[in-house]
Amino acid sequence: MILAIASGKGGTGKTTVAVNLALALEENEEVQYIDCDVEEPNAHIFLKPDFGSTEMASIPNPEVDENKCTYCGKCKEVCSFNAIAVFKDNILVFSELCHGCGSCAYFCPEKAITEVPRDIGIVEKGVAHGIDFIHGLLNPGEAMSPPLIDAVKGEMDSQKVIIIDAPPGTSCPVVTSVKGADFCLLVTEPTPFGLNDLSLAVQMLRKLDIPAGVLINRADIGDKRVEDFCRREGVPVLMHIPFDEELAKLYAKGEPVVLHSSIWRDRFRGLWTKITAASDAAAGKETERKEVDAG
Ligand code: SF4
Ligand code: SF4
Repeated sequence: MILAIASGKGGTGKTTVAVNLALALEENEEVQYIDCDVEEPNAHIFLKPDFGSTEMASIPNPEVDENKCTYCGKCKEVCSFNAIAVFKDNILVFSELCHGCGSCAYFCPEKAITEVPRDIGIVEKGVAHGIDFIHGLLNPGEAMSPPLIDAVKGEMDSQKVIIIDAPPGTSCPVVTSVKGADFCLLVTEPTPFGLNDLSLAVQMLRKLDIPAGVLINRADIGDKRVEDFCRREGVPVLMHIPFDEELAKLYAKGEPVVLHSSIWRDRFRGLWTKITAASDAAAGKETERKEVDAG
């Protein structure tokens, strides 16, 4: 099971949910926690892993041999990211814009381009409370987070329950993080902003064909519009977490609530049961749909 935990916007409590769920499962399952929020990872603050290894992550960037270059402009033409500018007798590569796709080197007729690695961040691996913990740290000022997210996801172990802590939003880093997940839990709050961003996240997951469920955090504030939206869209609400002073105090101290309360541990285990049931139901519907299409 690959479970992505995401949210249309930041500050909804996504990491708190992911951390508590991982800890609640750890007793009965082998769990891997993959923190893909590489621009601002914070799950390690709560799980406090012992890190055992650190690896650099890099992307290939073009280096042009101007002795071979004829300034034909082919590389500029094939670059979808405007990362190369070619002049009459000069060529410039903008490394920060380069996605490392390799097209320019492949299409250069003079073989004037070689690819050299450019470091974009690190991948750290460790163990926390018996959970395999992996996260990425993007270099300051670096714009290319998807390749680092891919490097972090490259450490996934399919024999384990994998919990992916996705970055907030619905842009490229989120798509890279949740792609390939069996199910996505969207953490939201019952406010107009929460509803707007939840609706964008649901649309994104539909495009990616990933079934989703919703957890409403601080469920006793705001209004019922998030509930109404979920009912209308057929997205199951799998858990409500009320606004709770004790939870907020533990959060401020970097303490997961399931380590302090067996009631909350049971609640998060109950959430897992609902997630697997919703995931199985979605998989069943998908099989039915494919059979109808084939028949
Ligand atoms: S495609 Fe090759 S030869 Fe043409 S401008 Fe680019 S680097 Fe130079
Ligand atoms: S590797 Fe791809 S993104 Fe980078 S400069 Fe070449 S064509 Fe553009």
